[in-house]
Amino acid sequence: MDIFDKYAQIAGRHDKVLELGTDPFGVRLDEILSATEARVDGRHTILVGTNNYLGLTFDEGAIEAAVEAVRTQGTGTTGSRIANGTYALHRQLEEEFAQFLGRRSCMVFTTGYQANLGMIVGLAGPRDVIYLDADSHASIYDGCRLSGAKVVRFRHNDPEDLDRRLARQQEGEAALVIVEGLYSMLGDVAPIAEFAEVKKKHGAWLMVDEAHSFGVFGERGRGVAEAQGVEEDVDFVVGTFSKSLGGIGGFGASSHPRFDVLRYCSRPYMFTASPNPASIASVRAALARIDCEPGLRGQIWANARQLHEGLAGLGFDLCSPMSPVIAVKMPDEGTAVWAWNRLLELGVYVNLAVPPGTPNGVCLLRCSVSAAHRSQQIEEVLGRFGQLAQELAAARA
Ligand code: PMP
Repeated sequence: MDIFDKYAQIAGRHDKVLELGTDPFGVRLDEILSATEARVDGRHTILVGTNNYLGLTFDEGAIEAAVEAVRTQGTGTTGSRIANGTYALHRQLEEEFAQFLGRRSCMVFTTGYQANLGMIVGLAGPRDVIYLDADSHASIYDGCRLSGAKVVRFRHNDPEDLDRRLARQQEGEAALVIVEGLYSMLGDVAPIAEFAEVKKKHGAWLMVDEAHSFGVFGERGRGVAEAQGVEEDVDFVVGTFSKSLGGIGGFGASSHPRFDVLRYCSRPYMFTASPNPASIASVRAALARIDCEPGLRGQIWANARQLHEGLAGLGFDLCSPMSPVIAVKMPDEGTAVWAWNRLLELGVYVNLAVPPGTPNGVCLLRCSVSAAHRSQQIEEVLGRFGQLAQELAAARA
């Protein structure tokens, strides 16, 4: 038997997508022109489908810090955090994150994916139960599986459903509830304050993944829990460096006095090389900028409003109220792939999101704004979406 036989169905579906134009899952950005522009297939393209929420990939301070770190400390650490891979830089960043988040302790991981794996595997074991929002990111699902804990899914953003399920909890089991702040596909926000009430009622623990909300929500940019005034009820906060911080890596933070035991018990933290010095140095600079420049948040929200109102005005079906992630619903996969290709031809890159990567089988053109977008660029994007709307209407007629 061919070991690849199991992929026959998915490969057939991918072939159909290829018949409609460019491979949406294999796009190559040939030249990166700025945080919001690239050259794709020789065409100048506005990027409206990244996670570069604050546009910090080209922050001068972050670039200088990364260059200096690579010159003075080398290209890689060649070791894990529990061997030779903890440099002063890693510790400094952990302290800065802990201080920024108002937490006792912070652990830095090599990616955001590993931050979820490492935190979940560290916190929950075979004798525990994880209560998981059904729309959780793949890294959260994978962490749950790796932990060996019993997993109970509750309905997306539904604290009452969580309450009902927690009521069936057995004596002697520790319960860990996991939700995200901002959901990356539909752009909807978790009711963390209500989840916090439910977790307190049942004596459970709460972990929030603020991957898409860190730097964007809250007065200081600490995320949705800050915006909803419930940080104290969140026991563990997880985040990534690959979105608003413009780098790569991830973190987990907590004020639990025994949190640091995870440094010796969490395999995804222990058994992989630590982030390289350039990554850590750029994230330190980006974090300092988020801390001292609230205007960046003002700008991303202004841009989110402009794109959200513009797309709604063009008659597109939007999945959620206004946030920096704006998901445009398409009627089916064929139309979504066709529309995605058309936008690319018109010089606009968005994310194509289709099942199983989306909840409830929806097909989406996922747009996201950056603080680095200029108002004029968003107008141009809206102009191209306007053309798309006309062409879709003509095809339906
Ligand atoms: N959590 C969520 C909610 C995410 O959306 C992602 C990535 N898209 C991750 C974690 C993983 O982060 P990274 O890509 O930095 O590994």
